[in-house]
Amino acid sequence: MTDLATRAPVTPTLDVAAIRADFPILSRRIHGRPLVYLDNAATSQTPSRVIAAFDAYYGGYNANIHRGLHTLADEATAAFEGTREVARGFLNAKESREIIFTRGTTEAINLVANSWGRANLKPGDEVLVSRLEHHSNIVPWQMLATEIGFTLKVIPVDERGVLDLDAYRELFSERTRLVAVNHVSNAFGTVNPVKAMAAIAHARGARILVDGAQAAPHQRVDVQDLDADFYAFSGHKVYGPTGVGVLYGKAELLESMPPWQGGGEMIATVSFETATTFAEIPHKFEAGTPAIAEVIALGEALKWVNGIGVDAIGDWEGRLLAHATERVLRIDGLRILGTAPDKAGVLSFVVDGAHSQDIGLLIDQLGVAIRTGHHCAQPLLAHFGVDATCRASFAAYNTLEEVDVFAEALERVIGMVR
Ligand code: PLP
Repeated sequence: MTDLATRAPVTPTLDVAAIRADFPILSRRIHGRPLVYLDNAATSQTPSRVIAAFDAYYGGYNANIHRGLHTLADEATAAFEGTREVARGFLNAKESREIIFTRGTTEAINLVANSWGRANLKPGDEVLVSRLEHHSNIVPWQMLATEIGFTLKVIPVDERGVLDLDAYRELFSERTRLVAVNHVSNAFGTVNPVKAMAAIAHARGARILVDGAQAAPHQRVDVQDLDADFYAFSGHKVYGPTGVGVLYGKAELLESMPPWQGGGEMIATVSFETATTFAEIPHKFEAGTPAIAEVIALGEALKWVNGIGVDAIGDWEGRLLAHATERVLRIDGLRILGTAPDKAGVLSFVVDGAHSQDIGLLIDQLGVAIRTGHHCAQPLLAHFGVDATCRASFAAYNTLEEVDVFAEALERVIGMVR
């Protein structure tokens, strides 16, 4: 961190200039200033090849998939299924049928809750979630708990926003069926030890669902090494489009689960006289026409990430985070929330005497996009006694100079509102 603190020349681990050239949106000006986009944990920007995938599909081979015998349908099906294989490789899943396309992480978790959860959770059972969860890994479980009568138990965090693993171990009972935990916290950036947590869950006979929405863009994910039963991520946080995401599930689990949504694509046979039968996985969980163009474009996004190298991206974001941390800590009355030793590129903070909302609005006037609010993690923020923070979050295309612009803009804005 010293070289960053003194701003000695730093050799980037990535060719950031070349990366930036891939993102047309980064040349925008906002209120007359160059855009500094630091809201990547909410949605990352998309490179040209992802945008081009939409043109190629709608201009060249738009057709519904799987059912058609004509050339366009064949081409669309091949491109769609091609992404399944790319996603398999991205997560190092054993088989591509373990990859289910969803609308995003939220829908992936709802799928597990409504299919696996309804089939496996009984009154009196227990599901563990962590204090660090995004609402999308809390509310589906709360809704189901109310209906079925199981108990939700919360894994606590310490003052740094690190999960308490001893407390985690102690929360298990013979009724614990599932652990639902994020790999990386969107609000604080904490990287959770999900491999160790999976081993503990499995030793106690429970399953583990990992919400990887914030991990997939920043670190290598190997679902076999983690031994995750389910793993979910969203396209729009990994340089891909909105409206698409992935649920990974172990094949034997997915096979044992009932379908969630019914309709076309997910059946084998439908009859009024005999029982309707369902398709094999993954199609059993993909009812209706999917977001075909988005899935194909997601494949391009994952190939783009593979081309840069997710380890190199994570390493660069670590440098950006270190520099940003050092810069903002010089600001009087600024407090960082989330100081875990193992953190992804997320910087959450509050400032004495300055409302987060005001900071967010004013810093936008200076061309800097950050997020303010509860980050869909109200139980976590409430635990730390705040209802909102400012959050800057980093991606492969951000630069150290942008971090400086952000820090200077922040100082200026705080001076205005105090
Ligand atoms: N989980 C985490 C950790 C997130 O950060 C988010 C989005 O911010 C989600 C889940 C929900 O993702 P989506 O809105 O793409 O379904």
